This record gives sequence, C-alpha cells and structure tokens, in this order.
Amino acid sequence: MSQLATVETNQNLLVRNAIAKRSHEDKALLRRHIPELVELERILLQAGDKIKTRILDTYQARGIDLPVYSVELGDFKPDQPRLLIVGGVHGIERIGSRVAIALLASWLQRISWEKSLQDSLQNMSITFVPIANPTGMFRNTRANGNGVDLMRNAPIDAEEKVPFLIGGQRISNRISWYRGDTEKLEPENQTLEILVDRLTQQSPLVISIDCHSGFGFKDRLWFPYAYRRRPMKGIAPIMALKLLWESGYPNHQYVFEPQSNHYLTHGDLWDYLYKKYSSPPDNHNFLPLTLELGSWIWVKKKPSQLLSMEGLFNPMVEHREQRTLRKHLPLFDFLRHATYSFSNWMPSQEQFAQLQQMAESLWYRES
Ligand SMILES: [Zn+2]
Repeated sequence: MSQLATVETNQNLLVRNAIAKRSHEDKALLRRHIPELVELERILLQAGDKIKTRILDTYQARGIDLPVYSVELGDFKPDQPRLLIVGGVHGIERIGSRVAIALLASWLQRISWEKSLQDSLQNMSITFVPIANPTGMFRNTRANGNGVDLMRNAPIDAEEKVPFLIGGQRISNRISWYRGDTEKLEPENQTLEILVDRLTQQSPLVISIDCHSGFGFKDRLWFPYAYRRRPMKGIAPIMALKLLWESGYPNHQYVFEPQSNHYLTHGDLWDYLYKKYSSPPDNHNFLPLTLELGSWIWVKKKPSQLLSMEGLFNPMVEHREQRTLRKHLPLFDFLRHATYSFSNWMPSQEQFAQLQQMAESLWYRES
C-alpha cells in the first residue's frame, strides 16, 4: 500500500462527504446500479493528494445524489498542453467508463514510481471525467435523466440528410436519439463545455478522447465532423497525429477516420466544441477524438447478449472485459506522450497544406 493512501487530505474529504450522506440502502443501490461510481470513489480515496478531485455537478436517481467527478493529474499551469479523458456520456455504454477508470487506476499506481510520468506532469495536465452521465448509467440508458441523447443535443444541424431517428430526432424523448432543446445544452453537456473552456484557455493543445462503444466489429478512433462530410479546418494536426501513431505503434487494431465516413448526425457535442474552441492554424488547438469500441465482436462471440440492451454495448464475459480494459493502455499512453511532446510534431503553417491534401485524399475522396 502506498504511503499516500493513508494520508488524510482535503481531496479525501470531498469524496468522504459524498459517501457519508448515503444510507445503507443508497449504498446497496449504487453497488447494484452504478458500481463504476463506487469503484471510482475507492480509487480517489486511495489516491489522496496525488490528484485534484472536483465535483462538477450532482444529479439524482431515486433520491440518491450522483456526483460527476473530475480528476486532475499534474499542476495545471498556463501555456501547457492538456489531455482530457471522458467516459459514460452514453449511460448504457458502461465499458467506456470502465476503460477510463481502469486507466486512471493504472496511471495513479505508476505515478508513485515512474519518473517519466512524474516529470511529464510538470509540463502537462491530464483530466478525467469517467462518468459524465451518471443518471443514464444508473438507469442503464443511453440518454440522460431527461431522455436526451447527449451526443445529439448540441446546437448544430447536419448538412445533409441523416439516418432516420439514429441521426437525431425531435419526435419524443421516449425514443432513443432525442435531441432535446436546441437552444439549451443539457446540464451534462454544459458541464463538459465549461470544462473544455477552462482547459483550452492558455493552452497550446488540448487532446480529448471520449470513450463509447457499440459500432461495428472494430475499435475506431473517430474525429469530427459528424454533421458534414467536408473535412474540418484543422485536419492537418489530426493527419499528423495519425501518422505519428501508425509509425510508432504499427499493427494496431484501430480504424482512424472521420465519423462522417459512416453516418451523419445532428447535434454532436464534439463537433460543436471543436468549432467553438479550436482555431487552427493559430497557436491554439483542440483535437477531440472519440474511441468507439467495436461491441459487435462481443455479440458475435456470445449471441445471447443480443437479448439485453446492456449486452449489445458491453463485453459481458469477464475475460473479454479484462482484455478490453488492458488492450487500450498503449493508445492512451501514446496520447499522453503525444500531448506532452506536441511541439515536436505539431505541423507548422507551411506543413498544413500538404497534410491537408494527404488527409483529403485518404478520407474525403469522392467515390
Ligand atoms: Zn456512445
């Protein structure tokens, strides 16, 4: 046990207070419906003052408070690059949260002895929001407590026709993919927007990765846009990041591509935040990625998973879950190194045109 784990700190107090408010019945309900939150709090208590914990917002389910925790590693100084890791935006895609929580636990263990990790955190910061939609996760639904799909909720409309319902709908919040009020972001999305606003201020580069599951047999790394088929203005740094990843980590299993290669949607939060907070090719960049874990492979291996909603989106067999939790560690290590070392690979203004051309012929050639 690390020495830090026994030190009483204000960090611990915040989590202890949240736990102390719960009755025995509340705790039992949380263990049953949102064990990810219980596990996260256990990790936070152990980490003590190695991290900065905040409660960004609190929601309720069955009268129980469900905090949205953010966890910060590093000193958070101005003019430093930052990495943001988000999970649980779609409550039913629990594996995304579990991947983020397992990663947090791994890095916290390594902080106590790994000098290169300690040193890098002098020059960058890492923020985790592992359970962004706790009400949805508690209820095992894709949407938040208002029945709104947080990835269809941003004020941005697709340029072309979107797939019926799936692309985002305004018919009813009883049907999936409900967009909610166009004028107002749902509170969970407002929280993420405030966070991105804070992270991008006085930072030369913020890379974010939002962990989802459910599409296809392969794991995918998606980048904006979802609302249009034309490339984003800052495609050059994305292209550079892809080249960096593929040359340094060959034989990986991910498909790296724009989401629009598959289908267009209305209201994607990362489209909206990218447009608002990135201003390439100036000295200010925000690169939002989505990790879309291919869940169909789990269903293929165990077809009975088709019978439950949870089975459609999560590995329901222990060894398959364990494999998922460990197999993405190299990707996250890469993103951490890429964030820290951004000045060594971020394209200059002269390189922008060439990388843009490369990206266009790779991803956007008219068929
Ligand atoms: Zn999702």
